Amino acid sequence: MQIVIVDSSRVVLQIITSLIAPRGHHVHAFTDSAEALQFITTTPSVRVLITSLEVRPLCGLELCWSARLLADERGPLYVITMSSARNVRSLAEALDSGADDFIEKPPSAEELNARLRAAERLITMQEELRRLAETDPLTGSYNRRAFFKRARIAAEQFGRPGGISAILADIDHFKRINDQHGHDVGDVAIKAVADLLAGEGVAGRLGGEEFGIVLPGCSLAEASTRAEHLRERVQALRIRGSKSAVSLSCSFGVSTWIDADSVDALLKRADIALYAAKTGGRNRVVPYESEAPRAVAG
Ligand code: GH3
Ligand code: MG
Ligand code: MG
Repeated sequence: MQIVIVDSSRVVLQIITSLIAPRGHHVHAFTDSAEALQFITTTPSVRVLITSLEVRPLCGLELCWSARLLADERGPLYVITMSSARNVRSLAEALDSGADDFIEKPPSAEELNARLRAAERLITMQEELRRLAETDPLTGSYNRRAFFKRARIAAEQFGRPGGISAILADIDHFKRINDQHGHDVGDVAIKAVADLLAGEGVAGRLGGEEFGIVLPGCSLAEASTRAEHLRERVQALRIRGSKSAVSLSCSFGVSTWIDADSVDALLKRADIALYAAKTGGRNRVVPYESEAPRAVAG
């Protein structure tokens, strides 16, 4: 596991590192708690934080809180606090500040490694639960909720005009595929389209045979070109049916970020464009263009 250790003493850091590094952990040691927090923020693979309560400039309890607040976006983080003054008050304060465990300083190798094994079991379980909660079981893509969450995270960074675009895709006449070839073949078709779309930006299955993609760093024109390539590739797919190979097509709606936008509004506009692609004959890409200025009479 990737482990961050914070203590004001380099000697303590060296001792603790020597206790846990031989067990195959990657240890990152810090004397400065703000630097440690920065490292945890930018290194999502860190799974354990071990911090003394007596650190600076953020005290150990503040570091616990701040690390805990990060966990939602970056994945599970197990926090162990250390103090040489083991008393009920500091134990309670640490746990109330978001710590998962509390150990006396200096810890023994046996105790520390046993606690890290317990942390690893819990983290593995949390990661698996998170994966199950975010994944659509048929396709392995993000499900609707996870897709919107990831899209919002991407929009926080790229949400400016020309900075992020969205594509909605829906398989054409999918009911016919189910009716003519059976539900199982329909499932294979959904999986094949999901696999094809998965290579693009942040992609998810929004429901049935409808998919969403957000493309950070893409303008409307670039996203429309990407959607056109996807349309061609979907059209070239051949799904093995009971009697013959099944071909299919998708319609695509594309939209881009505008001033004072939101992910919901961005995808709503892509949905309006998708509807236009359906009513316009299907198997096509329609970008959502803002309404053209109308000529004023008179
Ligand atoms: P359109 O071109 O207008 O999109 O036509 P369509 O037939 O694709 O339209 P509609 O959205 O009404 O039909 C979607 C169908 O997808 C209905 C539903 O039975 C089927 N479906 C939804 N989820 C699944 C699934 O997981 N597997 C399979 N095989 N079919 C599904
Ligand atoms: Mg459809
Ligand atoms: Mg549909």
